[in-house]
Formats: sequence, structure tokens, C-alpha cells
Amino acid sequence: DNIAASDFIADAITKDNEVGTYAQRVQTRFPPEPNGYLHIGHAKAITVDFGTAEEFGGLCNVRLDDTNPVAENPEYVESILADIAWLGYQPHTVVHASDYFEQLYQWAEYLVEQGLAYVDDQDTETISAQRGGFGKPGIESPCRDRTVEENLDLLHRMRAGEFDDGACVLRAKIDMQSDNMVMRDPVMYRIRHATHHQTGNDWPIFPTYDWAHGQSDAIEGVTHSLCTLEFDSHRPLYNWFLEHLPLPGDQPRQIEFARLELTYTVTSKRRLAKLVADGVVSGWDDPRMPTLRGLRRRGYPAAAVRDFCRDIGTTRTNSRHNIEELESFVRRELNKTAQRRMVVTRPLRLVIDNWPTDEHGAPEVDWFDVTNNPENPADGTRRVPFSGELFIERDDFAEVPPPKFFRLSIGREVRLRGAYFVTATSVVTNEAGEVTEVHATYDPATRGGDAPDGRKVKSTMHWVSAAHAVDVKVALYNRLFTTPAPGERTGEPLDDLNPDSVELLTDAKGEGVINEVEPGQVVQFERLGYFCADLDEPRLFHRTVGLRDEWAA
Ligand code: ATP
Ligand code: MG
Ligand code: MG
Repeated sequence: DNIAASDFIADAITKDNEVGTYAQRVQTRFPPEPNGYLHIGHAKAITVDFGTAEEFGGLCNVRLDDTNPVAENPEYVESILADIAWLGYQPHTVVHASDYFEQLYQWAEYLVEQGLAYVDDQDTETISAQRGGFGKPGIESPCRDRTVEENLDLLHRMRAGEFDDGACVLRAKIDMQSDNMVMRDPVMYRIRHATHHQTGNDWPIFPTYDWAHGQSDAIEGVTHSLCTLEFDSHRPLYNWFLEHLPLPGDQPRQIEFARLELTYTVTSKRRLAKLVADGVVSGWDDPRMPTLRGLRRRGYPAAAVRDFCRDIGTTRTNSRHNIEELESFVRRELNKTAQRRMVVTRPLRLVIDNWPTDEHGAPEVDWFDVTNNPENPADGTRRVPFSGELFIERDDFAEVPPPKFFRLSIGREVRLRGAYFVTATSVVTNEAGEVTEVHATYDPATRGGDAPDGRKVKSTMHWVSAAHAVDVKVALYNRLFTTPAPGERTGEPLDDLNPDSVELLTDAKGEGVINEVEPGQVVQFERLGYFCADLDEPRLFHRTVGLRDEWAA
């Protein structure tokens, strides 16, 4: 169970433990920025961060990386914490980068005093142009030669709120000719007069990711700071800051691993936020979204998401995983846990002409005991009514059966699952020529679904007794994007949106016990797939996943 960290992370930690770098301590953190909802990529990071700590008997904090008040808000904080809990992880503590603003500021003063940081009041464009590029020399800012006294004074005034947004920044004084652009005097503080959800109006300046991250790790006692590959080039800066500060304890180590990407979807909060803002989806929790909220509403069990993240392992090569891999973990889990129910999604009335009636002329009702889950006998059985009028799937009947169609047609005998053999005899059609009703006869000797004379049928169909049926709505989902790598063509993933990613069936019919399915519970609709009851709307079901991989070519 504890194989979250694949070898290169575990190897590095084992080595540290052998030489005693951190006195056998292992501490990690999961550092989401509260500027959106968590997605499947974050699930990967969570399983790596928490899984690694667990594997080595260490601790893992959640640190809200709240350094940009403009993009962040408490709604996101709340959802992030709830989604981590849903995924099944318990943070050692929940902390905020903003908890460390005062300490970070003092360390910034310290670097200024050491002559290692300066205030630059050129505009953003100039600073960025002077940074140069790979093979292109950087140009030192004229502000680089300011005295310590001048820099301290300016920093104090930045902190006191004397300057407008964008008027100046604090930069580390490192190396404007470094081959690593990150090291060309990176920005440490920006001015931003905005109310922060934790610190209110206490701070008019906010640390950049680079200035906040490693220092926050050090303050908390993080030993191994696991992050995604795009921070690889930031590692020298991560180390530079830590090496130049009077740390309270050991210097943490950053280790990078590949981001998780999945086919047919995007894992970027910015793009997901745009889908929400543009109304392409109903919200962050739309069942088509790769957010943890969306997956949960769709019926993905947390255990399946965890198992998938563990199974794909941790690498240092970015690659896109097939979404079918995730779906097969979902199916595997639900096959064990989901009770079976019969629901007809596109109903067609089936009338059994030789069905018996009672002394008042009303059709008899025959009750069958049906197994709830053949994979789990403990789930027991339920009683399902059968009578003279039923609903079957429209697709299960063909007036003119095409080749290899073995389901119901005139003169053909099929099994109604667990009940009887029936043979279609005639149809009723409307003016448009569409079949509105199929008439049939049943064989009383086949009760339970087998013929005593041993004769076979080629097809078994699900059904619902019309008199006992409850109305159900069913949402069927397609891929949200039409291509495995959205954006590959034009650079913009949203160009590859699938315009037909949801189909709502509003007159589905379910057996009566469908009323007892709890919000968020997943059941298997026989022959159709796994379906999750909506969290809010009764009798609305989202198709989680089909019974088998229908996408395979
Ligand atoms: P986005 O680009 O979606 O905004 P982010 O990396 O900015 O993602 P954060 O909230 O900063 O989002 O991420 C928190 C943690 O989750 C970071 O350590 C980050 O590396 C990790 N993470 C984010 N996306 C992925 C992903 N697709 N695969 C693995 N880890 C991820
Ligand atoms: Mg980030
Ligand atoms: Mg981001």
C-alpha cells in the first residue's frame, strides 16, 4: 500500500537517512495556491507528498501558498482542505505562507544588509528586457549599486505602503550573466495594495514564489520539498536563498518529479477557471471537470484516484497518461462496491398479452429476489416487481433487425433478466411510423430466467415494471475535449473543446429502490455502466464510467 514515492525520491531520502542529513527526520508539504480548485494533477502531488511522509514515518503539512492576494480567496482555501480530506489524507498541520510574512521580511532586510538585495524602481518591461535571454547577456540595473542604507530605507518605505503598485520591487543581487535566467537578480517582493484573505491590509508588499517557498520550507522544518519539474531551474535559487540566510535548522532539499497530464483533458487551474467563467461547464464541480470536485460528483471513488496515482509511479519525464487507465481503476473499484439496479434510459413499452390478471381484471405482480452485487454477497438481495407492462431499452428492439442483432425483434425470443423468456409478436406505431409499443408473449415455465426444456436464447435484457417505475434523469458524458492532447494543434486547448460532451436523458425509468440511493452513491445500472446519484438533485444520475472501455478503437 505504501508505494506512493517511486524509487528516485525514496532513494534520495534513504540516502539522507543513511548519512543522517536530517537526523532520520522526514517532513514534506503539499503547497497549493488557493487560486482555484484542486485537480487530478494535484491528486498526484498529494499522493507523492503524503505518501512519501507516510512511507518514512514522517509528517506532511498542507501549506496554503497564499502570496498573491489578487487571485486567492477563502472559498478556494475551504475547497482545497475538503478535497484533501476527501482524497483520504490528513495534514499534520495546515499552515499558510502568509504566516511567515514577518519572518520573510526580516530575512529580506538581512539580505539587504549583506548587500545581497536591492530595490529596483525601473518599470517591469525594462527589468524584463534587461534580463536578456539564453545566450543573450543580461544588463545590470542602474539600481544595483545603491548603498545598503538607501536600499534599507526604500524597503522600509515599500513595506510602509508609501509607493504605488508597480513603483518598485526588491531583487536579489545574484548574477545578471547566469546561464540560468532564474538567477538573473530575481524579484523577491512586489507592491500590491490589496486585501489579503489572511493578513487583511497588514502588508502592501507580497513575496514571490521563489522568495517565499524555500524559506517557508525551512521555517516549518520540511526536509524534502517535493515539487514538479518546472521548478528544476529554480532549484539553484531555492538553494541560494537558503545558503545566504541564518536558518533556524537544516536546509531543506528540493526534489522534482513530472507533472501528471491526462489525455482528453487539461490540468491547469487557469484553463479550468476559464471553462467555469465562460460557462462551458456548470462549475468547478461539473462532472466533466478533472477537478477532484468534478470527479467526486461524477462518482469516482477516492480510492480509485489514489490507486491510479500510485500505480503510474513518479518519474522525471513529463508524459501524458491515458485517461482510460484512470477509468479502469474506477471500474475496478466500483465493480466491488456498487450495487446493481435496473434502469431503462430510453424507454420503450413492452406489453405482455398473455400475462395473467386477478379477479378484478388487474394484472398480477410477480416479485423476484435479485442479487444486489454478485461480487459482494453481503449486499444481499432486493425484491423486484414484474408485471404485464414493462419498459425495455428502445435500442434493444429492432423492427427490422440488422445483421448480428440478437436482441428483441418480431418472432424472436429473449430473456428478461432474472424473470422470463418473452417473444415479440407485434408493434404499435405512431403517424411518423415510430414504434411506440411492442407486444409479446411470455413463457410461464421460464420463471427465474431459464427454460426447463433447455432451450437457449441469444440475449438477456434489463427491464422495469411500468406500473412500479420511478422517473429518473440520466446524464451521459463524453470527453470534454476532442483530442488526446488538447491544444497541440493551435496552442490553445480550448480550441479543441468537444461541443457535445453531455447528453441528458430526461425520461429514464428505474425500479422503485432507485429512490433509496443516497446522494453521491454509485450503483451499476445493469448492462449500462456505473452511475452516481447527484449530490443535490434527487433521481438525477451521472454516468461515472461504462462497464468496459468503450473508447477503445
Ligand atoms: P496550475 O498550473 O494548475 O495552477 P500549480 O502548479 O500552479 O498548477 P499549485 O496550487 O501551485 O498549482 O500546486 C500545488 C502543488 O501541486 C505544487 O507542488 C505543484 O507542483 C503540484 N501540481 C500542480 N499541478 C500538478 C500536476 N499536473 N501534476 C503533479 N503535480 C502538480
Ligand atoms: Mg503554483
Ligand atoms: Mg498556477
